[in-house]
This record gives sequence, structure tokens and C-alpha cells, in this order.
Amino acid sequence: MPDGESPKGDRSTKGQPGITQAALFGLCPRCGAKGLWDGSANIADRCHACGLDLMRFEPKGRGLYLVVLPVTILLILAALKLDEAVQLPVWVLVPLWGLVVPLTVIGALRFAKTIVLRARLEKQGLL
Ligand SMILES: [Zn+2]
Repeated sequence: MPDGESPKGDRSTKGQPGITQAALFGLCPRCGAKGLWDGSANIADRCHACGLDLMRFEPKGRGLYLVVLPVTILLILAALKLDEAVQLPVWVLVPLWGLVVPLTVIGALRFAKTIVLRARLEKQGLL
């Protein structure tokens, strides 16, 4: 086997989705079944397939401001830059930002929560 190639059948990562897959498609970090998300960015109580207690490890509270604040600032800067470059009419801006802002914030929260959830599960030896 060439150097740098991971051995086949590695127990620790077999059948587990990556962070992007888990965040975007809501796949359980342990078994890969769908249903990680209960709401837009809420982690479900437990995995329906493997019974993994997800709620216990869900990141909550003020720590999430570290994700939301920079994303909000970037969105504001993007809005200002866009307005500087092309002055779109208001009837375009309202639906545009009404869609882009929630999707971006939810996406960022999902990524951050998935990363923290995975780290916590790994630390507990549950992955
Ligand atoms: Zn599962």
C-alpha cells in the first residue's frame, strides 16, 4: 500500500459521513442515517437508527454567537459591496436578502454544530 493511503476497513471512520455531509444532509455522525436535524439548526434528541443520544452533546448557548456574529458582519459587508457594485431595486433586494441571510446563518450554524458535536462524541469515545 502506498504511503498516505488510509488502510481499508479502518473501524474508526467506516460508514461515517464527513462533516459536510452530516451538516448539509443531516446524517448521524455515528451511523450515517438521516435525521440529525430536528429543525432548521436544531439537533434531534437522538438518532432514530442507532439510538445515539445527540441532545446531550448538542452545542448551545452563547458559544454560538462566535459563529453568528462573524457571519452577520460578513453578510452586512456583502450587502454593502453589492449595493456599491450594482444598485438593485428594492423589490429584488428584499427577496434576495430574505433568502440569503437565513440560509447562510442556518448553514453556518449547522456546520459549527456538526463540528462541535463530532468533537464531543469523539472525546466520549462514541464514534
Ligand atoms: Zn445514528
